[in-house]
Amino acid sequence: NRRPKVVILGAGYGGMMTATRLQKANMHREAEIVLVNKHNYHYQTTWLHEPAAGTMHHDRTRMKISDVIDTNKIQFIKDGVQRIDSEHQKVHLDGGELDYDYLVIGLGSEPETFGIPGVSQHAFSIRSVNSVRLIREHIEYMFANYNRQDEKQEDLLTFVVAGAGFTGIEFVGELSERIPELCHEYDIAREKVKIYSVEAAPSALPGFDEELVEYAMNLLESRGVEFKISTPIKEVQEGKVLLENGDEIKSQTIVWTTGVRGNPVVEKSGFDAMRGRVKVEKDMRAPGHDNIFIFGDCALIINEEINRPYPPTAQIAIQQAYTVSNNLKKLIKGEENLEEFKPDIKGTVASLGGKEAIGVIGDRKLYGNSASAMKKIIDNRYLYLLGGMPLVLKKGKLNLF
Ligand code: FAD
Ligand code: NAD
Repeated sequence: NRRPKVVILGAGYGGMMTATRLQKANMHREAEIVLVNKHNYHYQTTWLHEPAAGTMHHDRTRMKISDVIDTNKIQFIKDGVQRIDSEHQKVHLDGGELDYDYLVIGLGSEPETFGIPGVSQHAFSIRSVNSVRLIREHIEYMFANYNRQDEKQEDLLTFVVAGAGFTGIEFVGELSERIPELCHEYDIAREKVKIYSVEAAPSALPGFDEELVEYAMNLLESRGVEFKISTPIKEVQEGKVLLENGDEIKSQTIVWTTGVRGNPVVEKSGFDAMRGRVKVEKDMRAPGHDNIFIFGDCALIINEEINRPYPPTAQIAIQQAYTVSNNLKKLIKGEENLEEFKPDIKGTVASLGGKEAIGVIGDRKLYGNSASAMKKIIDNRYLYLLGGMPLVLKKGKLNLF
C-alpha cells in the first residue's frame, strides 16, 4: 500500500502556496510530497523591480525554503528541471531523475522577446534574484565608469527601459528614485542622466485606467523620466536600441520588460502551449493529463467576459494554488469531484517608487500615499498566507506610510 508521490516543480507563488497548503492539511501522512526548485530560497518576483534599481536589498525579497516549509514533512530537492516525460511519469533534473504519481508545474516565466534581434544578448531582464543583482551592480558600475572617462560618454548614463507595462513602469519608478542618490554618491549632476521609457502601444500601461496612467506619467516625468510612446523597438545592438521610426538611442543599460512567456520547460516537454502557457482545464489539469496540474505563469486561462487570457499575475497564481492543493487532496483520498478554479480579481496596484503608487481595487481608484500603503498591505498579505504573522514581521513591509 504505497503512498502516492506528489512532485511540485518550482517554489514560486504557486509552488510555495501549494506546498504549505498540503503541509497544513497534514497530507504528508497520506502522500509523499516533494518540492523541486533551482535555488534553496524562494523569492518574491513581484518585488524584484526594487532590488533591480537598488532601492531595496535583494535579501529582503527572498527567504530560505526550509525556513517556511517543514522539510521533515515535505522533501525539498534543490535542482534544475530540464524536461518532463509525462509518458513515463518522470522528471529529468540537471542532477538526476524523479518519478511521480501527481505532478504540479509552477516554473514561472521568462522574458518575451518576440524574436526581436539582440534582446537576449544585449538586454537585462527582471526575472530572478540573480538577474536583478546584475542590473543593480551594472547601474552602479556605469556611474563609477563615467567618472573615469576623460571624454565623457553619455551612453553610460542613459538608461532605456523597453516596454511600459506594469513591470517597466514599476522599475522606472524605482530607478527615478535611485538615480538622484547615485548622482549624489558619484558627484554627477542629475541632468547628465537620462531615463527613457519606450512603449510600442499608444499609451503607457495600455488598457489601464486613463486617469491613473496620466497621474503615473506626470509623476515620473517630474522625476526626469522621458516617455517615448507609440515607439516600438525593432532591434537591440551592443550599446543601442533601434526604433521602428528609424531613430536610435545609445545606451549601455537596456532593461527589457515587454512581457513574459511560460517557462521553456513546458514546450520542451511536449505540452500544447501558447507563448509557453498551457490552456488548462477548469480543474487546473493539463488537457489529456489526469495527473498533471499547471498553474501560474505556465498556465493560460480565459476571461470569458472579454474572451481574452487573464494576464499572468501572482494574484492568480496564489488563488490557483488553493484550487490545485484542494484537488490534490481529493485525488489522494480517491475522490473524483474536483473543484473548478474561479478567479476572484481584487484589483491591480502598481508602485511608482518612494511613497507613490496607483491602483484600482474593486471600482475604487487609488493613487499617491494611500495606493502605496495598499501595495505594501498586498505584499504583506501574501507573507501572511505563506507563513503567518511571524513571516510578516520578519520579511514584511511594515513601514506603511
Ligand atoms: P514564480 O513566482 O515566478 O516562480 C517560479 C519558480 O520556479 C522560481 O522560484 C524559479 O526559481 C523556479 N524555476 C524556474 N525555472 C526552473 C527550473 N528549470 N528548475 C527549477 N526551478 C525553476 N503580479 C501580481 O499579481 N501583482 C504584482 O504586483 C506583480 N508585480 C510584479 C512585479 C515584477 C517586477 C514582475 C517581474 C512581476 C510581477 N507580477 C505581479 C507578476 C508575478 O510575479 C508572476 O505572475 C508570478 O510570479 C507567477 O508566479 P509563479 O508561481 O507562476 O512563478
Ligand atoms: P506586459 O505585457 O504587461 O507589458 C509589456 C509592454 O511592453 C506592453 O505595454 C507592450 O505594448 C510593450 N511592448 C511590447 N513589445 C514592445 C516593443 N518591441 N517595443 C516597445 N514596447 C513594447 O508585461 P510586463 O509588464 O512584463 O508584466 C508581465 C505580467 O506581470 C503582466 O501580467 C502584468 O500584469 C504582471 N505585473 C503586474 C504588476 C502589478 O500588478 N503591480 C507589476 C508587474 C507585472
